[in-house]
Formats: sequence, structure tokens, C-alpha cells
Amino acid sequence: MSRDTSRLVTLMAEAVDFSVRHVEAGGLPFVGLLVADDGSVSDPGVNLVRETGDPSAHAEIVAMRHVLQERGLTSLKGMTLLATGEPCALCYRFAAEHGVDAVHFAVDRTTVARWGFDYRSSYDALGTDRLLIAQGAQLVTVDRGLEPFARFLELHGTALAPQH
Ligand SMILES: [Zn+2]
Repeated sequence: MSRDTSRLVTLMAEAVDFSVRHVEAGGLPFVGLLVADDGSVSDPGVNLVRETGDPSAHAEIVAMRHVLQERGLTSLKGMTLLATGEPCALCYRFAAEHGVDAVHFAVDRTTVARWGFDYRSSYDALGTDRLLIAQGAQLVTVDRGLEPFARFLELHGTALAPQH
């Protein structure tokens, strides 16, 4: 494992830990994080759809918008997006439109769907799999990867699940 890969695994594990705490505080299991090519790491983004009434305020988009605003950037070139669950079509598109270099996730779309968050139809609808960023997105396996989703299901059942 290269140094860069092992750092990604460490950061993903931290994002997953953060996500478990966020779920236990009443949130959704999705957390997004950006790592810049200079090694700096953004604050973790969480889903704020309910809080803001903005249907696009998904965790990954919240993290990306925050970095754009905070650093006064128009592009996220050179940055890698880490996500606790595979980004949905909207988030992949936002990442592609803003020049994100790579996407890594701890749990893929099929597994996330089994835990009650099934947004796979959005990929076809928005042509996501034709985006290079989605084609190149990679799974980063971490020990507790499934725990945010399992905790969410334990706490809420499936009733709240479709609102990613
Ligand atoms: Zn999304």
C-alpha cells in the first residue's frame, strides 16, 4: 500500500467514525470530505436537506460548496472527494462540474441500497456512468465502513431511509 493510499484509508476511517457519531446525534450516514493535493483536508460535510430546505444539500455537495466558498475557489481541481456512501448522481455531477480529480467511497451503491438508501435509478436518469469521475471512482475498504448505515437502521428502521 502506498503512502497516499494508506492516508486515504486513514482519512476514510475518520470520516466513517464521524458519520457514526453524526447518526447517533440524529443525522444521516452520509459524510463527504475533500483532500487537496497539498494534503489539506476539509471539514466533513453532512446532509443539510432537512435543515436548509435545499434539496441539493447532500453531504458531499455541502463539503464541496464549503471548500469553494472558504477558499474563494471556482474549481476543485487537484482535490479528491471521500464519501462514506457512494455519491448519488447529483453529487457525482457536482464533482465533475467543479473539476474534482477523484472520488473514493467506503460503501458502494449496491450495498447502500441494501441498507435502505436506494438512489440507483438516479444514475441512469442523469447519465452518471458516462462521467469519467464516476467511472474512475474507487472503493476504499475500512473496518467500520458499514457501521453508519447499520446504526441508522437500528435507530430509525427503514421509514426515514429514502431521503438521501
Ligand atoms: Zn448526493
